[in-house]
Amino acid sequence: MPQHFLLSRPAKTLTLAQVIRMTESEAEMAFRRVRWPDTDGQPVCPKCGGFDAYDCRRPSGAPRFRCRACHADFSVTSGTLFAFHKMPLRQYLAAIAIFINEVKGKAALALSRDLGTAYKTSFVLAHKLRESMAEEMKGRTVGGEGKVAEVDGGYFGGYVKPANHKENRVDRRLAKNQNGKRKVVVVIRERNGNSVPAVFRTEGAAQAWIKSRIAKGTTVHADEATSWDGLHSHFEMKRINHQEAYSLDGACTNEAEEYFSRLRRAEIGHYHHVAGDYLLRYAQESSWREDHRRMSNGDQTFRLAGLAMHKATSPDFVGYWQRHLKP
Ligand SMILES: [Zn+2]
Repeated sequence: MPQHFLLSRPAKTLTLAQVIRMTESEAEMAFRRVRWPDTDGQPVCPKCGGFDAYDCRRPSGAPRFRCRACHADFSVTSGTLFAFHKMPLRQYLAAIAIFINEVKGKAALALSRDLGTAYKTSFVLAHKLRESMAEEMKGRTVGGEGKVAEVDGGYFGGYVKPANHKENRVDRRLAKNQNGKRKVVVVIRERNGNSVPAVFRTEGAAQAWIKSRIAKGTTVHADEATSWDGLHSHFEMKRINHQEAYSLDGACTNEAEEYFSRLRRAEIGHYHHVAGDYLLRYAQESSWREDHRRMSNGDQTFRLAGLAMHKATSPDFVGYWQRHLKP
């Protein structure tokens, strides 16, 4: 039996011990390289784009650069997701490595234990990392001429514990007995390619989105649910009836199912609660992890750090502390 990728040597290129042993300036250099890859870490002024900046550290030792052209002061994190950071940069790199190494998902509570931070700090940090992962899926279309994409949906949230006595129980399948919290994650996954998820009230509501995210000429595989019938007008379709088989006549949605397996394990094993306002973020996290599952953990860590360094602000968490939102 071939060795599982995660057990192989190429999968493991960065250990937490290596990150912890880094000096703060080594960690700073690591972030500089992912922020300014074109200049191999040499600072580029975020204001005027100038290449000529000199080191003018604060008396506290906090790293700062000053642009010779426009005299702007900036740091490696200015204008990024980690702007106004409170922790040392090495700790952010450690946080990313920990988040990456847990391949199904990393609970905020466990992250706060690992890092010695408050729960809210690690909760916000983990969500910022999910937002960074989502950057790669922005406007993504999958498939193309001669390619195959699989579509599937999975329901999350809205669970109501059945009443103890049978006579008090209601039929939750009826619309009038539902609380509206149940939502469906729909994923489109190109076979041997990338995926893109979105959240809807029902599978049927996802049609316009699916049509906009799958390139013309793609053969689309889906299960027997009537929600996907409308896609026949747009794509060559192959349907698989899961009552009969998981794969029949070349039709299957196994890669889409694998995606839901990861997301479901993240929900059950790590997060316990993914439904609600942030369901899309958890769905995008699983998508990113699935798309990059064959990349070494070191490459994943620096790729995610790079995404965070090129992401200007957080749509979900700007003013988070000010609004006193509950996590
Ligand atoms: Zn400048």
